[in-house]
Amino acid sequence: MLLAHDTEAALQAAVDLVNSGADPDTLTSTDEADAWYAKHRYTGRRDRDRQELADLRAVRPTLRALLLAERDDAAGMVNRMLAESRAMPQLLRHDGIDWHVHAVAADEPLVRRVIVETAMAVADLVRGDEMSRLSVCADDNCEGLVLDLTRNRSRRFCSTTCANRNAVAAYRARARSARA
Ligand SMILES: [Zn+2]
Ligand SMILES: [Zn+2]
Repeated sequence: MLLAHDTEAALQAAVDLVNSGADPDTLTSTDEADAWYAKHRYTGRRDRDRQELADLRAVRPTLRALLLAERDDAAGMVNRMLAESRAMPQLLRHDGIDWHVHAVAADEPLVRRVIVETAMAVADLVRGDEMSRLSVCADDNCEGLVLDLTRNRSRRFCSTTCANRNAVAAYRARARSARA
C-alpha cells in the first residue's frame, strides 16, 4: 500500500518526537523544539513557551504506545484520540504543499495538532494493515522507534549510529569466526 505523503510526514515527525526522549533527551529547550518543528515542516500556531515544550515532552509516551500498538488496539486508541480532540478532517493546500489533510485548525495548540496528525496517520496504517512499518530498533541496547518506509522493508535500526554500531559488531563477529 502506498502511503500518502502527509501520512509519511506525520509518522516521521511523531517517531522523531518519541525518539527525542531517549537518553540523552534532545527535546529540552525551545530551540530544540524549533529544530524539530522546522525539520518536519510544521506550520500553524507556535507558542514557544514552557507549557508548549512541557506538553510536547509529556505526549511522547502516549505517541510511543500508539505507534507500537497492535493493530486492533491502535484502532481503539486512534478513535479515542480523534474524538477527544474533536477532529474534523479538511483538505488544504498551502505553503507549497499539495493537497493534504489537516484534522484540527492551525490555531489549536501544537501538541493537540501533533496528537491528531499522528492519529490520522496511524488510521491509514490500520486501514492498510501496515502497522508492521513501526518497530523498536534492532540494537540490543536501544529502545528507539523505527519507521520503515522502504519498499523492501529493510530498515531495522532507528538511526545511522545504531546501524553503524551493529555493522561493526557483525563485521568483528565474522572476522572472529573466520579466524577460529
Ligand atoms: Zn499543512
Ligand atoms: Zn537505535
